[in-house]
Amino acid sequence: MSDIILQIDGKEVTAREGATILDAARSIGISIPTLCNHEKLEPHGGCRVCSVEVDSRGRTSVVAACLYPVEQGLVVRTRTDKLERIRQALVEMMLAHAPDSEPLQELAREYGADKNCFEKERSFCIHCGLCVRYCAEIKRANAVGFIDRGARKEICFIPEIAAKECWECKECFPLCPTSALQAAFVLCKALTFPDAGR
Ligand code: SF4
Ligand code: SF4
Repeated sequence: MSDIILQIDGKEVTAREGATILDAARSIGISIPTLCNHEKLEPHGGCRVCSVEVDSRGRTSVVAACLYPVEQGLVVRTRTDKLERIRQALVEMMLAHAPDSEPLQELAREYGADKNCFEKERSFCIHCGLCVRYCAEIKRANAVGFIDRGARKEICFIPEIAAKECWECKECFPLCPTSALQAAFVLCKALTFPDAGR
C-alpha cells in the first residue's frame, strides 16, 4: 500500500491508503469529536459530529471524517464556523433526547449548544448504534438491536438471546453515551429474569 499525503488544518500528514480522515487527524494529534466511533468497530457515520470540510477535485464538501478515506492532496478543515454550527445543531437535537448524557453535555459546552433548543423527547437513545454493533461485530451474539423506524426507532434486547449472553457479559454497557442501554436492559431483565435480585 502506498502512502497518501494530505493536509489537515494546514498541517501535512502522511497516512496509509485506506485510512480515514479521522485516523489521519488523530495520528498528528488533531482531535475531531465523535459519538458513534469506536476503535474496535467498523466506522458507522451515524452521529455526524465528526463532520469536516474537504476540498477534493475542485469541490468543497462536508463529509464524515470517520468514513471518508484519505486521498492524495486532500485538504481538510476540522474547525470552521460552518462545522461549529453543524455540530452545535446536531448536539442540540441529541440533547432533546438525552439531556443528562455526560458526553453530550461536554460537547454542548464545547460547541455552545443549548439543551433547551428543541422540545424534549426523552427517548434517551441517540441511535449511535455502539451497543448493537459491538454485540454483532465483537461478541457475535446479536443480543440487542433496533426495533421500529424513524422517530419510533428504539433499542431493544432480544430476551431469548440476552438471557443466555448478557448476564455474564455487559461489555457493551460502558459504551452507551446515555442511560438508554441500562434502561432497556432493566426492562429486559424484568421480562427475562423476573426473580433476579430477590
Ligand atoms: S451485554 Fe449482551 S448485548 Fe451487550 S455485548 Fe454482551 S451479549 Fe451483547
Ligand atoms: S442504547 Fe446507547 S449505545 Fe445503544 S444505540 Fe442507543 S445511545 Fe447508542
